[in-house]
Amino acid sequence: MSSSTQSVTVIGLGPMGQAMAAAFLDHGYAVTVWNRTASRADDLVARGAVLAPSVEEALAANEVVILSLTDYAAMYDVLEPTATALAGRVLVNLSSDTPEQARAAARWAVERGAVQLTGGITVPPSGVGQSASSTFYSGPREVFDKHRLVLEVVTGRTDYRGEDPGLAALFYQLGMVMFWTSMLSYWQAIALARANGLAAADILQHATDTANSLPGFFAFYAERIDAGRHLGDVDRLAMGMASVEHVLHTNADAGVDTALPTAVARLFRRGMDAGHAADSFSSLVELLKKAEA
Ligand code: NDP
Repeated sequence: MSSSTQSVTVIGLGPMGQAMAAAFLDHGYAVTVWNRTASRADDLVARGAVLAPSVEEALAANEVVILSLTDYAAMYDVLEPTATALAGRVLVNLSSDTPEQARAAARWAVERGAVQLTGGITVPPSGVGQSASSTFYSGPREVFDKHRLVLEVVTGRTDYRGEDPGLAALFYQLGMVMFWTSMLSYWQAIALARANGLAAADILQHATDTANSLPGFFAFYAERIDAGRHLGDVDRLAMGMASVEHVLHTNADAGVDTALPTAVARLFRRGMDAGHAADSFSSLVELLKKAEA
């Protein structure tokens, strides 16, 4: 087995795993790879990576094993049959999934003599190997510290969130809940613009300015929310209710899909019904803290 600081194994060669293996090659590492579809290793092998003939041999090659699979179910598909080959391995799991899946997988790894570092990587393949990119990690601190230099090849910055293996996945999902919803709001704006004869390019600057204004709101409301204060001194939910209904009707009038603005208006309506009309719309956080009965 090779030294953990000089060599790694990468299992899973989708766009992300390929970029990771390439980054390790760029840094002079000896890289062993394995992928269900072996042909996806061709370019890496041409650059000097070793394609292991089996998962067992990929695991035997190195202490540090980077996993970049679609989800944790794929990990079980790949690793469950290997049984004893996991003993002594550090599984750096950069596959995305839920915090609960990450915790269960960490326990599963320990039962097989391995240890998991959960990773939450928030950049696309082009950001892999870049010094400015960052990845969330959680799991045993001493394992993270020992292998930090290896992790810094994947992204130049590492953001260790704590021992709980679910934390890195949680931070990843916190970003994703905002990413998907925000991008969907952008698609909605483009659909509305197009229904009015405008192209995406015509609203790009306005969309960018709107998005850039959000961090100021994040900071302003974070302090108040943590203090449990939803004062209606700057905005009132009743005002927001009227505004989101304007948004809903603007979309309906244009004949575009109203699923998203309807869902937004429904949440505001629930806040109104719960008696928050005179409070800030940040009071919706209290509503969102538990699932609707
Ligand atoms: P892909 O889904 O394109 O590929 C992941 C790999 O998983 C492939 O090598 C695929 O093998 C393998 N795989 C999937 N299912 C199975 C299975 N049942 N058995 C064996 N192998 C399996 O993912 P990406 O490379 O795009 O991403 C990897 C992870 O990183 C994902 O969890 C993703 O959410 C996350 N991520 C992705 C980003 C992106 O921009 N792409 C950005 C940030 C995070 P095969 O080649 O044989 O199909």
